[in-house]
Amino acid sequence: MTAATARRSRPRTLDLRPALVGWILVFALGSLVWRDALPTFIVIDLIVSVALAIALYVIAPRKQRNTIRRLIIFLMGSVLFSVAVFSGRGNMQPEGLYFGILITVTHPAVIHYALAKIVGPLFFGRVWCGWACWFAALFDQLPFKRSRGRLRGRWGWLRYGHFALSLGLVLLFWFGYDYHDGANGVTGLMWFLIGAGLYVLTGVLLAFILKDNRAFCKYFCPINVPLKLSSSRSLLRLEGDPAKCNDCHACVVVCPMDVQIPQYIADKQRVLSTECTMCISCINVCPKDALKLSFGWDTGAERLRSRKPQTNLDWLRGLKFRRLLPGKHDLSNLP
Ligand code: SF4
Ligand code: SF4
Ligand code: SF4
Repeated sequence: MTAATARRSRPRTLDLRPALVGWILVFALGSLVWRDALPTFIVIDLIVSVALAIALYVIAPRKQRNTIRRLIIFLMGSVLFSVAVFSGRGNMQPEGLYFGILITVTHPAVIHYALAKIVGPLFFGRVWCGWACWFAALFDQLPFKRSRGRLRGRWGWLRYGHFALSLGLVLLFWFGYDYHDGANGVTGLMWFLIGAGLYVLTGVLLAFILKDNRAFCKYFCPINVPLKLSSSRSLLRLEGDPAKCNDCHACVVVCPMDVQIPQYIADKQRVLSTECTMCISCINVCPKDALKLSFGWDTGAERLRSRKPQTNLDWLRGLKFRRLLPGKHDLSNLP
């Protein structure tokens, strides 16, 4: 096959630049016209954009959907972040949650975490992380879209350390210094913006150092603690069909969280990993239509046997394996 033929047979990447230019023009014009009600205009503009992007996702060919998902999470994260900032509900960072609990359990941060990070994942898993998180909205736009696997060792435990540190910090302020202003008003907003800025900075640095857009999610995000706990009981999960799966590993290659999907299928289990963010990139690339979403109840015994995500060493082994078997493991058409 000549280089030109190979180029022609490769699927075309969706070019969203004209839509982006149009969106910026509409945004700039609208901001001028409705400058007296700018926050309301921004939120409405973003909500309409999310609706259009979801419609585009539904009608687009499967090979383009992972690109459109990145657009959706960017817009969705922007809507939610804008609402959180403009509504003046205070600090939505984990520290805001702890201050909020100490003030009143009906604090907006407590309600947000209860719904999005505890009750929601019991039904829909970590759909927040795949489609709505305002941090991942930025991380998913970085250049390292294909994960290279995980660092070996217990680096994932840093997330628990970070959780404990931020809880300890709030307790120290509250009980040690009698400081109660971390959740509400202008001070709460400052905590929120500075905390969010630090998360973004750390996430971008980690992504470039480890060449992995979701490195922050894998090693450092403390929000994983409630998310993993409640999503371990999620009713919605991926389910594979062992009769259709040919073990090609295309799903593992696109999985941003390194979930070992074929192993669950071989074990006749649904995908029980609490690392899964429900981004459904794997469904979109499966050449055999072997994956789908399903509602169900998994027993504790099944969960105990759940697989660890692949490490970066497994990824290298996988590369070697794929080179040895180029026909069976043809991954050239992945988006
Ligand atoms: S792990 Fe944390 S940063 Fe990553 S998507 Fe989930 S909430 Fe957002
Ligand atoms: S991409 Fe589909 S066929 Fe290939 S390993 Fe994954 S589930 Fe099986
Ligand atoms: S297993 Fe599939 S849905 Fe879950 S994170 Fe990986 S690619 Fe996304």
